[in-house]
Amino acid sequence: MNARLHSRDRVLTRCGLEDDQVVIEEARRLVENLPMKILVIEDEVRLAEYLRKGLSESGYVVDLAHDGIDGLHLAVEGTYDLIVLDVMLPGRDGFEVLAELRRQRRTPVLMLTARDAVEDKVKGLTGGADDYLVKPFSFSELSARVQALLRRGGGDREGQLPTSLRLADLEVDLARRKATRAGKRLELTPKEFNLLVLLLRRRGEVLSRTVMAEQVWDINFDSDTNVVEVAVRRLRAKLDEPFEFKLIHTVRGMGYVMEERQE
Ligand code: CA
Repeated sequence: MNARLHSRDRVLTRCGLEDDQVVIEEARRLVENLPMKILVIEDEVRLAEYLRKGLSESGYVVDLAHDGIDGLHLAVEGTYDLIVLDVMLPGRDGFEVLAELRRQRRTPVLMLTARDAVEDKVKGLTGGADDYLVKPFSFSELSARVQALLRRGGGDREGQLPTSLRLADLEVDLARRKATRAGKRLELTPKEFNLLVLLLRRRGEVLSRTVMAEQVWDINFDSDTNVVEVAVRRLRAKLDEPFEFKLIHTVRGMGYVMEERQE
């Protein structure tokens, strides 16, 4: 029981963060548990929405900016694992945004342009872009570049994260986004996978629905935590119900905890 209460103390919400060293350490840990976050700076609204939809379905959290000024502001003030940056933008163009960003941040940048000009490519890469994609491109091309850049790392998250996680007979391969229990593949949606990784990284710790909603869905409202309950139910149906013992446990009035229990 004491262990349970101790766990509760460690449940954090973003609004509860204070500016002192211990809490900064906790906040860093919290950030490392977040799904990968991508900023898309693209003025063609339809293309931007298309990228947001595709990347969200792949399990990333996506923010959009439609001009260079807003884009630069978000890029500098926010915490992103990757930035997709269009060259031709109103306000400030992609090269200006990149130059300004590189004075402050090493966030990986994938540049997009409609112009198939060699000088643009050279200009982008010497200006600090990490990769380059010429429009029009297919979503699978973009997705492959994004994954390659994220694997290379170097973003704001930096810390070396493990590539696989285990608990009892559960094994999760983070790089391949694959989960198995007792050697059996679990067919999970991207959200279910992220939810599983969050619970697993913070095993033994009771996570409130609010924290889960924030970290997996980027939702900040208590009223939307029903989403969490539905997703946990679906995850349990795949992860726990077909197997002998359960790994996800409900802690009444508090949330959920993932751990191996002697039953
Ligand atoms: Ca453009």
